[in-house]
Amino acid sequence: MKSRQAGLGVALLLVASLAQASVTKADWGKTAEGTPVQLYTLSDAEMTVKITTFGARVVSIEAPDRNGHQADVVLGYDSVAQYEADRSTYFGAIVGRYGNRIAKGTFSIDGTAYHIPLNNNGNALHGGPGGYSTKVWTATETANGVEMTLVSPDGDMGFPGTLTVHVLYTLTGRSLSIRYSATTTKPTVVNLTNHSYFNLAGDGKGTILDEVLMLPADRYTPTDALLIPTGKLAPVEGTPFDFRKPTAIGARIGADNVQLKQAGGYDHNFVLNGKAGMHLAAQLYDPTSGRTLTVTTTEPGVQFYSGNFLDGTQHGKYGVSYAKNAGLCLETQHFPDSPNEPAYPSTVLRPGRTLHSETVFTFGTRQ
Ligand code: BGC
Repeated sequence: MKSRQAGLGVALLLVASLAQASVTKADWGKTAEGTPVQLYTLSDAEMTVKITTFGARVVSIEAPDRNGHQADVVLGYDSVAQYEADRSTYFGAIVGRYGNRIAKGTFSIDGTAYHIPLNNNGNALHGGPGGYSTKVWTATETANGVEMTLVSPDGDMGFPGTLTVHVLYTLTGRSLSIRYSATTTKPTVVNLTNHSYFNLAGDGKGTILDEVLMLPADRYTPTDALLIPTGKLAPVEGTPFDFRKPTAIGARIGADNVQLKQAGGYDHNFVLNGKAGMHLAAQLYDPTSGRTLTVTTTEPGVQFYSGNFLDGTQHGKYGVSYAKNAGLCLETQHFPDSPNEPAYPSTVLRPGRTLHSETVFTFGTRQ
């Protein structure tokens, strides 16, 4: 009996060590200012993920299709210089201090007004022009991944309080987990997300219009023409925003709908039905390769952005230029412009509290 137990123990250890991702680090050049940048590779029997300290960005994710063939399923670049030159796509980045939009870059906390430099049609997007996607983070290797740390000083891009942010990327089997934590020295607003552009057919392999999306959301946040939410939580029922049943992204993207027209496609925050703890945010399926992606999160919303502003001027890792809809983002988050919408879940973080948030991207296949 004892030896059977010992045998089982050894077998379990073996399985555990097979499941364990290896983590390697390489130098990846320097920013224009001369700051060295590293590239981390997390690899296990199923997948390989590359993450750079520049913007704490996911550079590539290799995942198998239904026949076991690996392909890189996120958009991105070959070099730091290319990431630095591109100020508009946020490929793979951790965006912050406030991901998504703040109307007119202005908000108040406890009666004091703060102003973020404007970088998007008179509004602040993804933390302003010098947001976290442009910073070189400090990396620490962990058992199955890498932890990125950024200390964002008091007044950084106009935000109050020194914010210490940790983003832990972990690879387990076919799941990439992103765990965020943050603390502040003064009351501030925080909304952190990952801005990866997925294409389950493979990076540079056409558009995402035939990929099939499911979003468990009865409501979404309609916007004005500059993509600032109107404050309403509108039902998706009877609109092209109803993804409660899996639907091809291209099926209704061209519909005669003012919300789609003003964003040039989908660029909207969906109010997730799941509430406490980890809940489902999205499921994506590519009929050609059979790859699937399941997104779970602790966040109340997900911005589904169908890559509307990609315009062929971005030349990606595989020498392919990214046309409109070459990839899509599923940005788990608090709602856009929450600092100006008291009815939305609060994004205020106060000293003495720690923000915790987690999102897991799990890849799979179907026939
Ligand atoms: C926004 C888009 C924006 C894109 C930038 C998304 O999160 O919702 O409007 O163009 O980020 O790449």
